Amino acid sequence: MMQRVILASSNRGKLAEFNALLADSGFEVIAQSSLGVADAEETGLSFVENALLKARHAARASGLPALADDSGLCVEHLHGAPGLYSARYAGGHGDSAANNAKLLRALDGVPAAQRGAFFICALVLLRDADDPAPLIAEGRWHGRVLDAPRGEQGFGYDPLFLPHGHALSAAELEPALKNQLSHRGQALAQLHARLAERHA
Ligand code: IMP
Repeated sequence: MMQRVILASSNRGKLAEFNALLADSGFEVIAQSSLGVADAEETGLSFVENALLKARHAARASGLPALADDSGLCVEHLHGAPGLYSARYAGGHGDSAANNAKLLRALDGVPAAQRGAFFICALVLLRDADDPAPLIAEGRWHGRVLDAPRGEQGFGYDPLFLPHGHALSAAELEPALKNQLSHRGQALAQLHARLAERHA
């Protein structure tokens, strides 16, 4: 029988992605919004802390195991900004054009060698709200910030991110390839492996 797990996110794309990945681990992933669970306050100081807060809140509210993720872009020259504030760097939540414009301004005149950055994704799976041993996975995708946007695919900061070892920006890569290489892809693969260990 499939074990229901609540996803502490209302993003439809993520729901489908997590479902595809976790089906063979025996999980059916459902959105917290479909159970009337509201978003948790993200008061943590790191991605993994915020993922834990979100998962714990969803597990507590639903009585189900819970899965949460938190992700963003950290730029070395900016001491890790936009970091936890990636979605609302320029003010409004999820305004990618404004966020990208602000990032380009912040790095104006900074040479390529000093434009290093990485995307990070923390994933947390709690068996219940009091689980003392959550499964935690973290992926990082290293690269640098371009001088101008390139490409139409993906979302967020993808047009400004040139992954190490690739000539194409994250927004120029085939989506399937991006999903395999990315911070989220890496974290998902790790979580999948951790689940397989647990069931072995
Ligand atoms: P969240 O974890 O879904 O809240 O994402 C936080 C923010 O990080 C997003 O709104 C984007 O600005 C940025 N971000 C996270 N992952 C990616 C990615 O794969 N490409 C581009 N931007 C991303």
